[in-house]
Amino acid sequence: MSYITSAQDYEEMKKLASLVRVMNSLGHNPATSGNYSLRSKTSPEIALVSESGIDKSQFTEDNFLPLYYATRKMHESFSGSQRKSSDETDIHLTIYQITKANCVLHSHMLDSLLFSDLFSNEDFATIKDLELLKGFKGVKTHELEIKIPIFDNTQDIAKLAEQIKPALLAQTNNYGLLLRGHGVYVWGDSVEEAKRHLEVFEYIFKYYLLSHPKKK
Ligand SMILES: [Zn+2]
Repeated sequence: MSYITSAQDYEEMKKLASLVRVMNSLGHNPATSGNYSLRSKTSPEIALVSESGIDKSQFTEDNFLPLYYATRKMHESFSGSQRKSSDETDIHLTIYQITKANCVLHSHMLDSLLFSDLFSNEDFATIKDLELLKGFKGVKTHELEIKIPIFDNTQDIAKLAEQIKPALLAQTNNYGLLLRGHGVYVWGDSVEEAKRHLEVFEYIFKYYLLSHPKKK
C-alpha cells in the first residue's frame, strides 16, 4: 500500500516547508538541526514529520515523512527506503497525542538556550506582565502567568517523550517547551498559529535576556 498525501495535507506541507526555509535563514536550524511536523488532517493515525539530515535551506514538501502514532514507524510505503524521520520524532508525536496542536516547530535558536540558562534551577520559566502574551491563543490579558516547562537535554528521546507528558497535560495557555542547551519546541492549531507563537517566544527570550542578565 503506497502512501498518497491528500491535497489538503500537501498544501499544509508546502506552507510549512516554505516557513522552514525562512526560519533557516533566520538562524533556527544551524547544521541541519531542528525539525518540523504536521498532524495529518485526512489520516488521523498519521503525522507528517521532517526527514533527518536535510539542509533546511533546501527543505521542501517532499521532505515530510508519514509516521504512525501507534507504532512510531513510517508508513509501509517508506519502510524499504533509507529515509529516516528526525531523531526527535517521538517528541512531535507525543505533542500531537497530548495537545490539540496541528503543527509543531522545533528550533535550535541560540536565544532559547540562553533563556533556559536564566532558569537553571527551575522546572518552569514563569513569564508575566508582557502585552505580547496576548499573541498566544486564548490569552486576553497581560495579567496572567505563563509557565514554560524546561527539561534537561538527553539523547534518550523515548524517555524524554514520557517526561514531557505531565507538563503538557498540566498547562494552560502555553504552547512551547524548552530543552536546556538544545532548543525550543513550539506548536499551534495551524502553521500560521505556530509561527505566531514562535514570534511570541522569540520576543520573550529577547526581553528576558536584555532585562535579566545572568548573574555570574
Ligand atoms: Zn533538536
